[in-house]
Amino acid sequence: MKRLDSRLRGNDAKGRFVTFYECIKIAWAESCYRDFGEILRGDPKLEQWIADLNRSIRASHRAMEEAGIREICRSCEKEDGGSCCGKGMERKYDGPLLLINLLLGQDIPKTRQNPRSCLFLGTQGCLLPARHVICINYLCAKITDRINPDSISMLRDKEGQEIEYLFLVKERILNLLRIHGGRDSPTCSHPQNRKQFISP
Ligand code: SF4
Ligand code: SF4
Repeated sequence: MKRLDSRLRGNDAKGRFVTFYECIKIAWAESCYRDFGEILRGDPKLEQWIADLNRSIRASHRAMEEAGIREICRSCEKEDGGSCCGKGMERKYDGPLLLINLLLGQDIPKTRQNPRSCLFLGTQGCLLPARHVICINYLCAKITDRINPDSISMLRDKEGQEIEYLFLVKERILNLLRIHGGRDSPTCSHPQNRKQFISP
């Protein structure tokens, strides 16, 4: 039992599998996508905001590339032994954010590629287009010391738009699910709250 509990918390020796809490959130997002995908995709306002979100995500990525941030991150990964996307960051992601990724056409990864890294980290960086605000905002000192403040400020503008559309999309999805009888989303991964999202 102790061993099982340890596995549910993601403390296995290899650390590759998805924990119980991530399984619940991913299952919620996938079942909503399956059962309500048509309703969500058919809502004109949501369709517009998802297109805006997509555009703003691409604009943020472009600004990162143009500022030289991606190059620093790539060499950090190769030369300094790995990026800052550590194991456990996936716990910050709730069901609706995973559902947004499905609506953007991205399957949710279920196998950790590196035991020490975030579940969503691929060989070329983050696999999710819709990221948590912490992931969007984070810039380490290697970047802030080397990139000129104007480029960072331009990036912050783009990221601000990305976060705004993320918020609008999420609220719209939750409203539509409420109207159409969707189940409440699992939002917390703490063991004390487990009952909250496994009870019928
Ligand atoms: S943000 Fe900093 S620590 Fe993270 S990958 Fe980029 S350079 Fe490395
Ligand atoms: S940016 Fe992506 S890979 Fe990195 S911690 Fe966030 S979700 Fe994980």
